Order: sequence, then C-alpha cells, then structure tokens
Amino acid sequence: MSLPSFQLLRPKTLDEAVALMAKHGGEVKIVAGGTDLLPSMKQKLFTPPYVLDLGGVRELRGIRNLPGDGIEIGALTTLSTVEHSALVRKDYPVLYQAVKTVASPVLRNMGTIGGNVCLDTRCLWYNQSLLWRKSCGFCLKKDGDLCHVAPGGKFCWAAFSGDTPPALLCLGAELEIAGPNGLRCTPLSEFYVNDGMVRLHLAANEIVTRVFLPEASAGWRGSYQKLRVRGSIDYPLAGVAVALKMKSGRVENARVAITALNPAPFLVKDADAHLVGAVPSEEIAERIGELAARTAKPLTTSALTPEYRREMVRVFAKRAVMAAAN
Ligand SMILES: Cc1cc2nc3c(=O)[nH]c(=O)nc-3n(C[C@H](O)[C@H](O)[C@H](O)COP(=O)(O)OP(=O)(O)OC[C@H]3O[C@@H](n4cnc5c(N)ncnc54)[C@H](O)[C@@H]3O)c2cc1C
Ligand code: SF4
Repeated sequence: MSLPSFQLLRPKTLDEAVALMAKHGGEVKIVAGGTDLLPSMKQKLFTPPYVLDLGGVRELRGIRNLPGDGIEIGALTTLSTVEHSALVRKDYPVLYQAVKTVASPVLRNMGTIGGNVCLDTRCLWYNQSLLWRKSCGFCLKKDGDLCHVAPGGKFCWAAFSGDTPPALLCLGAELEIAGPNGLRCTPLSEFYVNDGMVRLHLAANEIVTRVFLPEASAGWRGSYQKLRVRGSIDYPLAGVAVALKMKSGRVENARVAITALNPAPFLVKDADAHLVGAVPSEEIAERIGELAARTAKPLTTSALTPEYRREMVRVFAKRAVMAAAN
C-alpha cells in the first residue's frame, strides 16, 4: 500500500497549472486534498508519471459573495470551509446539509469541493488492493476485461459516490473549467456521464476552477438524507437531496437529486410537477419517493443489496421532502 513513484508538479498560479496540464496532458493526475486520489494511488488504481498538486494555487480557495448573482466557491475550498460558511448555511441549506455528512471532520479539513465534484466512481470490485483485484482477475474499469457486477456486458456500473453534487444539482450549480483554450462554464447537470469509466465531461488537460451557485436558488429550503454503513465516516450508498422554494406554505419551485445509485448523480425528472403549487404532504412526499426509486439503478457495486438501497431511496426522498418543507 505504498504510493507508486511519480514526479510532483507544484504550480503557484492557475496559468502555470493550465500550462503544465497542457504540456503533460493525459499523463497527469490532479491532486487537491488527496483524500480520494492518494488511497486509490496506493491501491495502484492510478500510477500516473506526473501528479499536479493544486494546493499552491491560492486563487482557487475561498467563497465569494457575488451580490445579485449568487456565490462562487473556489474548487480548492475545503469542505470544512463550506460547512462553516454562514452564507452557505443561511442561503443554500441543502449544500450545508450534504457537506457536513462527507466522511469525517478530519477528511473535510483536507478534502475540497472540486475533489468532491470530480470524485472517481466506486465499486466493491474496484476500490481494493492490487493483490485483492489480481486474485479476482481484475475488472473492466482497471486492468481486466470482465465486469463482475454485470458479467454479460461491456459497461462499468461503478457508482458516483459524492455527497455534495446532488445538493449542487438541486441548486442549479454551474462549474467554471480552465483549459488550454481559456475558461468555459457548464451547468453541473451536463458535467456527468452515466458511465462508471468515463464519468465526467472533462478533458485530460482541464481543471475545475470554481462552482457557482445562482442567486435564484438562494433561500430555498433543503434537506439531504444519506445511507451509509458507518454513520461517522463513510461514502454514501444512497443519497437524496431536496430543495424547495416555498411561498405562503406552498412550493413555488423544487428540485430533487440522487447520488451513489448510478454511475452519475441525477436530478429526479418531473419531481417539480408533483411539488410546484402544492402544500407538501405525506402523499406527495411518497410520490417523490417513488420517482426517486425509479431513477435509481443500484447494482451489486457495494456491500448493501440493490433492493435495500432502492427501498432506502424511496424512504429518504419522502423524509427529505417533509424535512425541507418543515
Ligand atoms: C474514509 C473515507 C471516507 C470518505 N467518505 C466520503 C463521503 O462520505 N462522501 C464523499 O463525498 N466523499 C467521501 N470520501 C472521499 C473524499 O474524502 C471526498 O470526496 C473529498 O471531497 C475529495 O476531495 P479531495 O480534494 O480530497 O480530492 P482528491 O482526492 O484530491 O481528488 C479526487 C479526484 O478529483 C480530481 N480532482 C480534484 N480536484 C480537481 C479539480 N479542481 N479539477 C479537476 N479534477 C480534480 C482528482 O484528480 C481525483 O480524480 C471519503 C474518503 C475516505 C478516505
Ligand atoms: S461495475 Fe464492473 S467494471 Fe465497473 S468497477 Fe465494478 S466490476 Fe469493475
């Protein structure tokens, strides 16, 4: 479980980082907090010749209020900073709820929002030591030619297991991405690929630089509910985020998103059709639970059964709607 050898690149500015990424392209792995990448490198899931440490690029740290437009969170901002931001807690409570469930306080002190958004997908057959994976003949995602989860196919079902992206999706977040051709912006809802191997619409030489939360979703009520094995420190095995814009007891706008059940986090389609205009009730919350369960496609990528995870999505979606409304 030692790290493989690599050359460390330590840019001090974003321009330097972009130039280094352009120079080394597909041979570089970005490290931010390292809380996900370094364990994976120790398991030899990645053995890149170069590792680019974003830690010195100070311009990517911090949360900025953009009056009238929303807020901007630098990709290198730690999860603890997001968790303890009074602005986030007051205006974007669903993000506050989600971020405080990530891993443990120590890991949130190191882990960044950019790393959480770009997290690798996870699977019981993949996040294991080299020796373990070798004994099983490896798998499609790394070094093998068979998927143990769905052996007939050539598709990777490893689950996206970040906690903040469903909350960010509910808030209509956008990402700023830097590359050799400058900066581009993309809605977070278009950033993910529902394929455990491809994962992200992010070129090998691009860096996620900022997350924007629009003013339009400031003040929406929110709730995040998460299923995990160890309550104090664990990746989600199912997660549901709900954000509601309320006016005089009725829902004016709504979004629901799920994580850790598919290779990508997803907004639950048509959830707003059931919620907008209504006074939230147990019956409506149950319908949202059904929709969320139908959106989820859990497979045997984790120690908990797909049936249990799907059932818990239904239960959690219902609870999250009621918690957000109340
Ligand atoms: C015991 C344990 C429990 C955990 N539990 C949870 C959990 O409950 N919920 C959860 O969401 N996560 C969990 N994690 C994973 C991790 O701690 C968090 O997801 C964290 O936010 C990752 O951020 P990081 O900065 O450490 O990412 P890194 O490890 O530095 O990077 C993660 C990935 O993102 C890429 N990346 C990082 N920053 C950028 C960027 N700016 N642009 C482009 N690519 C980038 C890296 O190349 C890498 O592929 C857990 C980890 C451990 C070890
Ligand atoms: S879903 Fe299949 S291919 Fe993907 S990591 Fe798991 S076993 Fe490997």
